[in-house]
Amino acid sequence: MNMQIPATAMTATPFAVPASRWDDAYAAALLPAELLLYRSNLLGSDLTVTNFGGGNTSAKLSEVDPLTGSAVEVLWVKGSGGDIGSMKLDGFATLYQDKLLGLEAHYAGPDDDDKMVGFLPHCTFNLNARAASIDTPLHSLLPFAHVDHVHPDAIIALAASSEGEAATREIWGGRIGWLPWKRPGYTLGVMLRDYVATNTGLEGVMLAGHGIICWADSAKACYEHTVELIADAANYLNARQAGRPAFGGQVVASNPDRAAIAADLMPRLRGLMTGTRRKLGHFSDDAEALEFVGSADVARLAALGTSCPDHFLRTKIAPLVLDPAKLQDNAWLEEQITDYRAMYAAYYDRCRRPNSPAMRDANPVVVLVPGVGRITFATDKTTARLAGEFYGNAINVMRGAEAIGDYIALDEQEAFDIEYWLLEEAKLQRMPAPKPLAGRVALVTGGAGGIGAATAARLLKDGACVMLADRDDAALEEVRVGFAKQYGPDVVRAATCDVTDEAQIAAAFSDCARQFGGLDILVANAGIASSAPIAETTTVLWDKNYDVLAKGYFLTAKHAWPLLKAMKNQGGTSVVFIGSKNAVAAAAGASAYASAKAAANHLARCLALEGAPDGIRVNVVNPDAVIKGSKIWDGDWRKERAGTHGIDAGQELEEHYRKRSMLGRDVLPEDIAEAAYWLASDASAKSTGNMINVDAGNAQAFTR
Ligand SMILES: [Zn+2]
Repeated sequence: MNMQIPATAMTATPFAVPASRWDDAYAAALLPAELLLYRSNLLGSDLTVTNFGGGNTSAKLSEVDPLTGSAVEVLWVKGSGGDIGSMKLDGFATLYQDKLLGLEAHYAGPDDDDKMVGFLPHCTFNLNARAASIDTPLHSLLPFAHVDHVHPDAIIALAASSEGEAATREIWGGRIGWLPWKRPGYTLGVMLRDYVATNTGLEGVMLAGHGIICWADSAKACYEHTVELIADAANYLNARQAGRPAFGGQVVASNPDRAAIAADLMPRLRGLMTGTRRKLGHFSDDAEALEFVGSADVARLAALGTSCPDHFLRTKIAPLVLDPAKLQDNAWLEEQITDYRAMYAAYYDRCRRPNSPAMRDANPVVVLVPGVGRITFATDKTTARLAGEFYGNAINVMRGAEAIGDYIALDEQEAFDIEYWLLEEAKLQRMPAPKPLAGRVALVTGGAGGIGAATAARLLKDGACVMLADRDDAALEEVRVGFAKQYGPDVVRAATCDVTDEAQIAAAFSDCARQFGGLDILVANAGIASSAPIAETTTVLWDKNYDVLAKGYFLTAKHAWPLLKAMKNQGGTSVVFIGSKNAVAAAAGASAYASAKAAANHLARCLALEGAPDGIRVNVVNPDAVIKGSKIWDGDWRKERAGTHGIDAGQELEEHYRKRSMLGRDVLPEDIAEAAYWLASDASAKSTGNMINVDAGNAQAFTR
């Protein structure tokens, strides 16, 4: 982290040069379809080879037809969706090759591209449920047994440069052909097939503005051929870049405070990106991003947009570039977002066709800040991260393309036709409805404990991203790893944080803002408990309770406040305090604890009043006797309370609390989590200043 390019850096970041990772011993035991999978995984899992998603691979294999029992040629080709790096065998579509070739009878010209997609399912072999991708004709129409189509940065850099065609000739002689830009589909497949038929002896074809397609007679030969072509392109570009800076040289030095600047900026940007759904943010200040954003050419190149369709679909027509000197000016920032949306609407109006789908969200996806880095926004964290990574690929492409000529972006109308392609729209319409907390960010203090972890799990389950804060490092990491496994590594982060230490609290919220873009939900839960008669309550014990339970809640709310306030125009935010029955009901022999809890509950009411104009709701859950999983109940408190009640500190204590409750039931962390979840969610959008008791019934704690 926090890598910094020295101001003296003169040489452009080089392209990675891949090498074959094929293992003959491993491959020897594989069946033909498994060899295709092996080759695909090798290509896709090596990010020096290709970007996420990574294109597609195919093999034409002999299979036994389940209907006739005789051998038949089947095209195995990476299906729609997924990533060749992590796919399994079920990620391939399988189709009768003779039926695929027969489809040409239905094709009259480029206007039939969409229609041809509808015929693909009719060619399915063996009832395979995996949908065939729109790139299938590229593979079926070429008369080669093994075909790879990939989009590595070094290759697209050639494909998107004014000098790309000349460079292709220079690097590979006549071995690799060149087709002008054509958007993916059946027509591109026909063009490619005809081009290869008339230009004999080709080993592959560059697809302008897009990538490369190449082939060989075996899985291993095809894999090694692909890797070699990428290495050739990378070596060629590296030789051209050597000894001179990228993008006209660095004009804005990388700011050593950029992490803090990003944390301060992201919640304000996120708050301004109003629309139907909230956004998650992702920040990167890797060397490539800093080299680009700080360069002389950033504004000119950013305005051109990206080239490869994969890059474009993820990153939108163009990024928003912000002047780092004006970031503190909120009115200026709002103007930038407003102008961007107007620019996007104008693009939509210029390019729309009579049957185009309605305009989608007009907010920028990529925001570039010279000296600071690259920030991306999307409706979920993974998409935001991937958008950033794809823009990173686009930066590499621009660097290489400019090293040999002029970078050429995708034509605006072509870009629009891809973005608003009816089949793409149909795919979006089929997406499942977002979960209730999708796009929300929650910070949970005491996140490694019983109630905290249960609440975090409940929020994660309904789609929130969660920053766990806890002072117990080891427990925190264990909980984080567990959640990352269950809900995915993108949606959970952890910050070591003692709520009595204001600097640590500030750092946790800053981290949350930088990791996710802001905050929508605060669950203040970190607590302790103590028990002592008044005469034996030392000032140390008194202060300890008030430090954690009163001052701790105050400090977490205070530092959450600006982040929550930034979301004022996005439908509001929620603060949930985990209180206690003892905040309402007096407790003998625990006056420090109970009165500190009462202070926190009253703080919640004060904050409810203060937060309402900014859409910040503040509510309290009052648990009682949640013993399972609680760190509080592991310590002296258990013995102390057992002593107070004159019972054994073991099983008897649970029994005592169960019997004492009106409903005669145990109260579990999950029960508290459910109430906290309700108060955090829009289901309680009209509630603030409330308390919910979750205590299996306790008349003493009835609110009045
Ligand atoms: Zn492609």
